[in-house]
Amino acid sequence: MARYLVTGGAGYVGSHTVLALLDRGDEVVVLDDLSKGHRGAVPAAAKLVVGRCTDSAALEQAFALGPFEAVLHFAALSLVGDSMRQPMRYIGENVAGLTAVADAAVRAGCRKFVLSSTAALFGFPERVPIDEAQPLLPVSAYGESKLLCERALDWADRVHAMRFAALRYFNAAGADPAGRAGEEHDPETHLIPLAIGAAMGTRAPLTVFGTDYPTPDGTCIRDYVHVSDLAEAHLRVLPLLDHRSVRYNLGNGTGYSVKQVIETVGRVAGRPVPHAIGPRREGDPASLVASSEALRRDTGWAPRFPGLDEIVRTAWAWHSAHPRGYAQAA
Ligand code: UDP
Repeated sequence: MARYLVTGGAGYVGSHTVLALLDRGDEVVVLDDLSKGHRGAVPAAAKLVVGRCTDSAALEQAFALGPFEAVLHFAALSLVGDSMRQPMRYIGENVAGLTAVADAAVRAGCRKFVLSSTAALFGFPERVPIDEAQPLLPVSAYGESKLLCERALDWADRVHAMRFAALRYFNAAGADPAGRAGEEHDPETHLIPLAIGAAMGTRAPLTVFGTDYPTPDGTCIRDYVHVSDLAEAHLRVLPLLDHRSVRYNLGNGTGYSVKQVIETVGRVAGRPVPHAIGPRREGDPASLVASSEALRRDTGWAPRFPGLDEIVRTAWAWHSAHPRGYAQAA
């Protein structure tokens, strides 16, 4: 049993990781400003400190609830499109949050750190599946901000012996299989919740962003990885931090096209997903699929929900039970 600080623990991936830690008997303190996260996503068994990562009083309050075995840092701005409208804000806030939290951890004597990183580090990749050896050439300010966060942690490692794991997520999807947490973003930009909302009639029909990509059915291919599998990977890398810092690409290793997602959501929902064909969205690579071989080899991690059907089924179950999201529970 150990105690962990989880920043952004009221958000999508953060809240599922909090559940994974609590499920194995650990204690959790969440630091979240609730600007994007939801109070209802933080289980009663976790302590919640409401505040920003750059707020020294909030950090002090959170670290006073330690000592922590490690910090898991999820809090960040994370919308690729939005980052291209306000690049300085994304780079400034994401790097400032990371450096403030890492600095407070060092001062508190905590030298293990897990960073939510992203496949957006790779921009338009040279080849698929994407392994860790591929060049880091982000094509969005969001991707750049996470690359800078990873590089900042290299200095924390070198100077303060802080060992870190940077996990480059591909497309997080699905919901806690026990129905305790799910996905709620505002605005929602992600394919699966938009397709589910369209099928449920709670959202507008979906627009498919382009059907002229060089893929078998012309729509973009992505690697959808179940959010509880993502959460599990955070636990798996923790023992490695006794020895070294690591970076891993984290996905299912299987790609699904937008059309396949629409078909799958229709099948799970038992009704078709209303949709229309639209133009390409700027900055979308044709295909992003992870090679998570290194993570599997080093930690034994393997997805429990590798199939798109089961991923969508958990998402559908959560959205059906929470048509108004977390507001419902309040
Ligand atoms: N997509 C789409 N319509 C939408 C939202 C997304 O066709 O309303 C496509 C998008 O172009 C991409 C895939 O679905 O190919 C996954 O997009 P999402 O925003 O969920 O994740 P991303 O891959 O951008 O991180």
